[in-house]
Amino acid sequence: MKRRQIVAGNWKMNKTYEEGRELAQSILNKFVPEETHVIICTPYIHLKSIHNLLKEVSRVALGAQNCHQEKSGAFTGETSPAMLKSVGVKYVIIGHSERRAYFSESDELLASKVDNALAHELRPIFCCGEDLAIRESGTHAQFVENQLKSSLFHLSESAFKNIVIAYEPIWAIGTGKTASPEQAQEMHAHIRQLIKQKYGSEVAESTSILYGGSCKPTNAKEIFGKPDVDGGLIGGASLKAEDFIQIVNSF
Ligand code: PEP
Repeated sequence: MKRRQIVAGNWKMNKTYEEGRELAQSILNKFVPEETHVIICTPYIHLKSIHNLLKEVSRVALGAQNCHQEKSGAFTGETSPAMLKSVGVKYVIIGHSERRAYFSESDELLASKVDNALAHELRPIFCCGEDLAIRESGTHAQFVENQLKSSLFHLSESAFKNIVIAYEPIWAIGTGKTASPEQAQEMHAHIRQLIKQKYGSEVAESTSILYGGSCKPTNAKEIFGKPDVDGGLIGGASLKAEDFIQIVNSF
């Protein structure tokens, strides 16, 4: 089965309302190849207005960068999956390393967020990846395996089919230091093997696994050229329409 090739932009905490509309509009004005699925993960304030811009463009979908683990209630400042769905969101990033590090999101909490997102028909883009110390100690494969087992592998096969995985080595995020295409391929193949052991070949072969970490127009082609890399989750380079679209056209 052919996997979906995906490029997702993670705007993080960038762009005012007007700047966000301009960026989304300039992305939409550019060519997106038919076989590539593009996702724009914006701050909450942009979701509704960008959804209105995207409505006619079926290959560009809207994503959020986080959601809460509870359905509703007294959680000041938080946003539920039902709220996200109501403004046209289809995907939600869960487990980004910045949320794990700055907001102390644990594997167990992330498992609840995944469940809540799926219960509201949002597709999680689940992030995993090791920091530099773990990479240098040589335990990165086991570390990522534990992250997947703790937050995803409780899912049924039919639920897991809605997951997109993003492997994002923390030492490569926003640092300008990219994993080599070989390092990316090695980890992606490992992740696919783990999915195969748990859910079987069909699910493993149809799960999109994205690479994230200083992906740019100059290195995307080589990374996306690896057999188990199905696209990218793009931070810094998603903030410039030109760069983002060049990455989208890198398959
Ligand atoms: C990210 O934070 O998801 C990311 C990949 O960032 P950058 O591309 O800036 O390294």
